[in-house]
Amino acid sequence: MAWQFGRATVAALQVGGYGGAVRCPFCSADDDKVVDSRPADDGAAVRRRRECLVCNRRFTTYERVDELPFTVVKRAGVREPFDPEKVRSGVERAVAGSAIEPAAVDELVAEVEERLRSIGPEVTSEQVGRAVLEGLRRLDPVSYLRFASVYKGFEDLGDFEREVTELQKQTEPKRRQ
Ligand SMILES: [Zn+2]
Repeated sequence: MAWQFGRATVAALQVGGYGGAVRCPFCSADDDKVVDSRPADDGAAVRRRRECLVCNRRFTTYERVDELPFTVVKRAGVREPFDPEKVRSGVERAVAGSAIEPAAVDELVAEVEERLRSIGPEVTSEQVGRAVLEGLRRLDPVSYLRFASVYKGFEDLGDFEREVTELQKQTEPKRRQ
């Protein structure tokens, strides 16, 4: 969780549980009481009005889930922050010319990000590619294959080949017995 005073984020606070004390911006004491708590930012944050028990001045904190960017580790060990726009442009290329709605693309990108965040603060480029492929496979097999064809961009050709082989197996018409 990050506590924000206006734009400044105050880190390393003693957060002793729900609404725990926050260092007073006026006198630096960390002894306060919460005098009011209410949702802010459409429920994405909790706004707390606090009163310092040392200097009696009031200040406001916003508590929100910390959405720190997470990191993608590439094949060569190079790390870069996860960029949903890269996922989006890959998916958009894949679905170009199809009947897939932009809203479905948004949803897929959000889904991929969600899945990757649940894996951890660091994901591999392979995991990114696989998450996109899984989403696309459910959405539209043709786009899936098209994405798979540019999967080299995710630096994992081996997985790409495996995925395509797998899809071919799944979509191959059943032969007469
Ligand atoms: Zn104070």
